[in-house]
Amino acid sequence: MIDFKNTQIAFESKSNNDLRRAKFLFNSIKHTWIVNLGKVFVYVTSKLRFPVGWLLKPTIYKQFVGGETLTKCTPLAQQLMKYNIRSIFDYSAEGGGSADDIQDTLDEFISSIKYAKDNDSVAYAVFKPTAFTTDEILEKASAKTKLTDEEQKQYDEYRQRFEKLCQCAYDCNVRILVDAEDYCFQDAIDEFTDEMMRKFNKKRAIVFTTFQMYRHDRMPYLERLYQDACKNDYIIGMKFVRGAYMEKERERAKQFGYPDPICPTKQATDENYNNGLRYVIEHIDKFEVFSGTHNEESNQVLADLIEKYSLARNDNRIFFAQLYGMSDNISYNLAHEGYNVTKYIPYAPVKKVLPYLIRRAEENTAIAGQTARELELIKTEIKRRKKEKKKL
Ligand SMILES: Cc1cc2nc3c(=O)[nH]c(=O)nc-3n(C[C@H](O)[C@H](O)[C@H](O)COP(=O)(O)OP(=O)(O)OC[C@H]3O[C@@H](n4cnc5c(N)ncnc54)[C@H](O)[C@@H]3O)c2cc1C
Repeated sequence: MIDFKNTQIAFESKSNNDLRRAKFLFNSIKHTWIVNLGKVFVYVTSKLRFPVGWLLKPTIYKQFVGGETLTKCTPLAQQLMKYNIRSIFDYSAEGGGSADDIQDTLDEFISSIKYAKDNDSVAYAVFKPTAFTTDEILEKASAKTKLTDEEQKQYDEYRQRFEKLCQCAYDCNVRILVDAEDYCFQDAIDEFTDEMMRKFNKKRAIVFTTFQMYRHDRMPYLERLYQDACKNDYIIGMKFVRGAYMEKERERAKQFGYPDPICPTKQATDENYNNGLRYVIEHIDKFEVFSGTHNEESNQVLADLIEKYSLARNDNRIFFAQLYGMSDNISYNLAHEGYNVTKYIPYAPVKKVLPYLIRRAEENTAIAGQTARELELIKTEIKRRKKEKKKL
């Protein structure tokens, strides 16, 4: 069993100040009213074009974001590497759907792939397909609604951008994760990701699809994909997450009168997630796996499967992943035990990363158990360090 409670290993890289900042932050964002107040504050200040960087940069930004640019994130990647943890730089600028914005985002994603190629400390590149077209077009394409000529042109451009990234990743021999988002866009994204896997994953997994295991239709899809990979001779890049949009999805399903796509209970989601892990490890010859979760049990399940099937802990096909600023008890303890671990590290200028930061704060409020665990671990480590200092 992996000891996820070992705070000395978990926070080895953190100074006392880092711990105090993290304690203050997690203490604050566990309160819904503080997060809501923060949202209003950010909205008002951005409307007034009032700079808030001075306030956010040393606090929530420092906790959850790597830096403004890839180059500025380099010291962080090197520091994580000392602990056997690799990085994934996720350009998290949001908003702005003009042609120039889309081109800038595409260029940045390309830079992040090339950066990954040149830096061993980086394990994967990543992108969000929704950055390349409008929600309306993806939604229509997912629903198989006929597109107008203009929409079809835009949809084709979106697919060209998507393919350009996959081609670049292939040319650089860098694995690339396609993030999953809202249910209403996902069919179109999945369909094209599968096409990219068929094209670029002949020898190894370059393109990774993302399965949100809170969806009750993912296991049958996983089995279909496996059959397809056997028939068409390619390796599936499989990124598992539980899924980040549960409340929104349930509400939308109710509003538009279609069946709720989410598992009925948390337990059902947990079982689905762990079954997904079991399936891919049982069929590992056709898969590479990325398990993105802060759930201790699921991390243990994957570690046990590696043991059960006599795979090496550092088998290059299997990675554990957590978000930067969260669940260091999982990342550092797994890495210490010799497993492949990677951290998702968002980067972007403060102004552009605000929606991401708000989501992180909201998620930590919503997943109260995780926030309580973070706080408990941080407090334990602060106490442990005090005791140790007294002994000296
Ligand atoms: C490295 C990494 C990459 C990620 N990438 C993506 C991505 O591309 N797309 C994306 O959507 N999310 C992504 N996420 C977020 C992820 O989907 C989860 O929201 C988050 O990690 C919390 O789930 P958990 O497995 O860590 O932990 P847990 O705390 O065990 O699980 C919480 C999750 O369980 C599910 N859940 C909670 N209550 C219920 C209920 N009553 N019924 C059914 N299900 C329930 C929800 O999905 C909730 O988020 C990523 C997370 C990580 C760590």
